[in-house]
Amino acid sequence: MKILEEKILSEGRALGEDILKVDSFINHQVDPVLMQQIGEEFAAHFKDKGVTKVATIESSGIPPALMTAISLNVPLIILKKQPSKVLNDNLYQTAVTSFTKGTTYELTLSRQFVSEEDHVLIIDDFLANGEAGTGAIRLFRKAHATVAGIGILIEKSFQPGREKLMEQGIEVYSLARIAKLEKGHIEFISED
Ligand code: 5GP
Repeated sequence: MKILEEKILSEGRALGEDILKVDSFINHQVDPVLMQQIGEEFAAHFKDKGVTKVATIESSGIPPALMTAISLNVPLIILKKQPSKVLNDNLYQTAVTSFTKGTTYELTLSRQFVSEEDHVLIIDDFLANGEAGTGAIRLFRKAHATVAGIGILIEKSFQPGREKLMEQGIEVYSLARIAKLEKGHIEFISED
């Protein structure tokens, strides 16, 4: 998606070879017009997939996921990051290790918001090792729901997340794919 790539080039900051900071339009301050365009792009791509719900992981996935849900006219589920396991029959939980923080949290979904009829589109801001995405897939599969695909704003294609998700039979649609990061330098995969 050209406008997202341009925004990443003008405002993104590569902290080194692994981490991209996009605090001015995704992770801290949010560009609402860009989020709307992103939502429309995901909705157009997944419109024939029978999506019944959009899901994301709190908190940076919420703005683009909400815009996608509006465009598809379906509810949005926000998967919660709980610090520890909760003994509660009404919840699905699964442990996920955070890429940026190195900590582990319990990704949590209330049974009340998902059923086996659901076909869920998962949206997240970044794809790195695919831990967050795999955790979300595990939760929906525990609920006997199906996953329509994963929409990612920024994929770091030099990390193994895409392969990991595709091995699970999941379609990954990324709006910007980064081939390489170096301090002060960002290189995209050319799609042509
Ligand atoms: P994964 O679970 O795929 O290893 O990592 C994805 C999660 O880690 C995303 O939800 C995002 O919050 C965070 N993340 C991974 N890489 C980056 C990065 O380069 N920059 C930022 N801002 N967040 C990242």
